[in-house]
Amino acid sequence: MDFTISPKVEDFRARIARFVEDEILPVEANRDSWDAHDNIAKDWLQPLREKAKSEGLWCLQLQPETGGQGLGKVGMAVCYEEMNRSIFGPVVFNSAAPDDGNMMVLEKAATDAQKERWLAPIVSGEVSSSFAMTEPHPGGGSDPGMMLTTATRKGDTYVLRGRKWFITGAADAGHFITLARTSDDPRRGLTAFLHHRDEPGWRIDRRIPIMGPEEHGGHCEIVYEDMELPADRVLLGEGLGLKVTQMRLGPARLTHCMRWLGLAKRCTEIATEYAQNRHGFGVRLSDRESIQIKLGDLAMGIEMGRLLVMKAAWAIDQGSFARKEVSMAKIHVANLVHKAADVAIQVNGARGYSRDTVLEWIYRYARQARLVDGADEVHQMVLNRHLTEQRRGFWTWETQAG
Ligand SMILES: Cc1cc2nc3c(=O)[nH]c(=O)nc-3n(C[C@H](O)[C@H](O)[C@H](O)COP(=O)(O)OP(=O)(O)OC[C@H]3O[C@@H](n4cnc5c(N)ncnc54)[C@H](O)[C@@H]3O)c2cc1C
Repeated sequence: MDFTISPKVEDFRARIARFVEDEILPVEANRDSWDAHDNIAKDWLQPLREKAKSEGLWCLQLQPETGGQGLGKVGMAVCYEEMNRSIFGPVVFNSAAPDDGNMMVLEKAATDAQKERWLAPIVSGEVSSSFAMTEPHPGGGSDPGMMLTTATRKGDTYVLRGRKWFITGAADAGHFITLARTSDDPRRGLTAFLHHRDEPGWRIDRRIPIMGPEEHGGHCEIVYEDMELPADRVLLGEGLGLKVTQMRLGPARLTHCMRWLGLAKRCTEIATEYAQNRHGFGVRLSDRESIQIKLGDLAMGIEMGRLLVMKAAWAIDQGSFARKEVSMAKIHVANLVHKAADVAIQVNGARGYSRDTVLEWIYRYARQARLVDGADEVHQMVLNRHLTEQRRGFWTWETQAG
């Protein structure tokens, strides 16, 4: 079993690490660069994006012919972790959700004409995008089969009607991928559609206030009121919406985990530094066994997360959907990033609870990790389904060819 990475991936990792250290962390440390929603302000972001692009550190997730670096999921796992050492890292490299997942699914599922119109402007950084699936009660959430938004065929067009919520980035996004029901077929009842912000027939009802920092464009509740879209806006094919969501959400869940590992490592970095410098009751904090146990345990949890993520990344690169591998990584890393922020705040005492470090930012952000892209319980349900079907076969090693 080979746990080494290629020289090409190591070169990207090292260049990203240097970029984060020299270019992004100083900006993150300057509160003037933060916007009202605790994200990097656009006028600070733009020059960093230009610089990342000029250094060839742009869109690692895409193939070179799409304008990316063709790193594959294994290479991305290494590099995304490095990017998210800074809370502002991923968006600088055009590797932040939801554009990251939207670009990856458009690259796979869109026709050439759709790629030119809907994907290329996201790749260039000219527009951002949203993925609209979740609906308020009684519509579809964890269970997409409950989706109520409809797209009714009318001649050469589809008419969309319904309500979505928690749509990340919607207040800023130019391009939308929206899921709607085109029939009652349980497997082929949903269809994915593409639309532009400036087209009539939809509106933002409200920007939902949340507990954590926000992606640019927030999290919005949006309404489709008889939005008419031509048939060439269908992505992949009518009735293939569930397939689009599977194609999008598997890799997107995993790239979330890759980034969250970077945040978890940053938490240990801040905690370790404080523990090494702080004394109490005549003893350095880092010399106390109780602190060593906490940080040692965290280090092990991060490594377990990296192994789960890397195995899933490898399986996807081999052509698998890696459903159970992604589910295991998602549950573990979502809980880990939450725990890492919690432990680091505890080790830092009152400083950890302040806004003098990014720990409180990570703590507030981390709570959503256990809900988005499949709540813990949904992934546990998926794992149990695999276990029930495969029994002892759940745990197997792939055998090398010949
Ligand atoms: C910050 C944030 C950003 C988001 N961005 C987007 C976005 O861009 N686009 C989009 O479409 N959606 C987005 N969402 C929505 C997100 O994907 C959903 O919240 C998630 O899929 C869960 O759906 P729900 O909220 O309807 O929860 P529900 O389906 O109502 O579930 C509620 C709870 O019930 C439990 N539960 C559910 N199913 C099971 C089960 N099978 N077994 C046991 N327990 C279960 C879980 O604890 C779950 O948290 C976002 C959400 C947040 C918080």
